[in-house]
This record gives sequence, C-alpha cells and structure tokens, in this order.
Amino acid sequence: MSALLPIFGGDMPWCAICQKPVEKVSAAWDPLKLWTVYTAHCHGQVERCELTDQQAALCEGLRFGVAFARELLPAPAPELGP
Ligand SMILES: [Zn+2]
Repeated sequence: MSALLPIFGGDMPWCAICQKPVEKVSAAWDPLKLWTVYTAHCHGQVERCELTDQQAALCEGLRFGVAFARELLPAPAPELGP
C-alpha cells in the first residue's frame, strides 16, 4: 500500500528523508500490465510507484511528489510514561 504513495507532484520526487530531490528516477513501461513503474533512487534505497496508462490518460499534468515518506512514519510507540 505504502509503495503506492503518490510520488507525483514535481519534476523530480522529493526525498522525505534527505529533504531534497531524489538522486535518480527511472521509469519502465510494462506492456503486460499497461503501467509505468517509476523507481526513485536515493540514499541507497529505492521506492517504486506504478502509474497505469489509464491513470496517466485521466490525469493531465501529473508530476512527482514525495518519495520515501513512509520511512518517516512513526515507529511503534515506545513504552512511554504517563
Ligand atoms: Zn534521500
């Protein structure tokens, strides 16, 4: 689920970890699934996001957004006192 985080919103995905554009983005169209897999590379990690051809056709002006945002999700709460 989180792999499908919308990383569309800018010319390059913004890395939520590094607070700068990711180092590299690659895109590969899959003729079987009829979607394009975008892979953001940054700080030694990759995050994939699939965009179907239908989505691409319906959404004009799609741009990259934030990648790796899930890395910032809060970890399970530690044992905190009241
Ligand atoms: Zn990064």
